[in-house]
Amino acid sequence: MPLKDSLQTTLQTIPSEVSLIAVSKMHPAREIEEMHSYGQIDFGENKVQELMGKYGQLPKSIRWHQIGHLQKNKVKYIAPFVYLIHSVDSLELLEIIEKEAIKNNRPLAVLLQVKIAQEESKYGLTLDSALELLTFKKEGKFPHVAIKGLMGMASFTYNKEQIKAEFSYLHKFYETHQKEFGLEILSMGMSDDYLLAIECGSNMVRIGSKLFGKRNYTV
Ligand SMILES: *Cc1c(COP(=O)(O)O)cnc(C)c1O
Repeated sequence: MPLKDSLQTTLQTIPSEVSLIAVSKMHPAREIEEMHSYGQIDFGENKVQELMGKYGQLPKSIRWHQIGHLQKNKVKYIAPFVYLIHSVDSLELLEIIEKEAIKNNRPLAVLLQVKIAQEESKYGLTLDSALELLTFKKEGKFPHVAIKGLMGMASFTYNKEQIKAEFSYLHKFYETHQKEFGLEILSMGMSDDYLLAIECGSNMVRIGSKLFGKRNYTV
């Protein structure tokens, strides 16, 4: 399907209050540029090197989202331009983001990634440690970082009830603490589960293959 149509048909399934992040990892810059020309502004990447290369080539009107696990020694490369980091999964990473925000004289916006999947391998904070980081922030730590909200990834499973339970678990925590910590963003949902995620309260979806097709692993 042409990119214009896949963007349009996808947007038709997303309520207007939900933001769409077009996940462009492993797709070439020209496809991003084309989709950007149809009005899509937010793009997500999970590898710092790939993100930097594309940032360098593409219009500065694009807002770049770091959506995958971020290594501490790579924060410095994206701090000058990244729009939102979705994947803060440790206190140490948050501390480094604070330092880089100061160095670049640029506040940085982040989400705390919470582990909601039952699988072993996924990154993410427990709810307790997320609450701890939010409390540090409220007490005045990390003044140059804005914790805008939370991100979660559900298990890779066909069991819809399990996926719903995982999304609902994070949504409940989000709702409970939204006011106290000024949270605005709940980033949940990918190509295969974003409709469920929206049902469960997500207001930001990260969609790759449904928009761009199968990823090109040779990019
Ligand atoms: C790749 C990726 C997505 C998008 O996945 P699709 O299934 O292609 O929609 C969303 N979020 C994260 C963190 C990803 O790494």
